[in-house]
Amino acid sequence: MNKLVKRVFLGTLLILLLIPGSALAYMGTGSWPTRTIPYKISSDVPSSHVTPINTAASNWQAKSILRVPMDNTNYKIIAYVYSYGTTGWDGQAFINPGWNGVFTSGNIQLNQTYTNNYSSGQINVLASHELGHEFSLDHVNVNTNLMYTSATGAYANNPSLANGPDQSNIDRIYNRYAVKPY
Ligand SMILES: [Zn+2]
Repeated sequence: MNKLVKRVFLGTLLILLLIPGSALAYMGTGSWPTRTIPYKISSDVPSSHVTPINTAASNWQAKSILRVPMDNTNYKIIAYVYSYGTTGWDGQAFINPGWNGVFTSGNIQLNQTYTNNYSSGQINVLASHELGHEFSLDHVNVNTNLMYTSATGAYANNPSLANGPDQSNIDRIYNRYAVKPY
């Protein structure tokens, strides 16, 4: 009997460990070493995209504990916008040295092949989503969340905080960054 209880308990514990939980809402175990993460916009980004990207950064700064200043000298993240072709993605995020490390630099890429047809609000959601990855957030399966698998899918479902990060995004940022220095 005792043995059976023990096995059931261990079995339950194992299943709990295997259930995708909040840990999987992060790209990996890594994050930036500080809460200040300056960015710059590549000089060849079209003006139609500059404002929504800047708004995305300022939304993150306004609504989370991160500081996301534009800084053309001491930037950590670069935003690129090019016509990458019909690749199947409208935005991507890259980080160095990798999602499990201490982040040193990163970039987001918006694919103008698609975004040329987007409204400024849609570009803002897309840029906010890719920045969310830069800040270590992975996808969630709630289609009204900024970090929904498809940023434009989320846009179609009206993300909760006026195209910016919503509370669950902010909570996860807080969990990751609260004890880090600025
Ligand atoms: Zn994504």
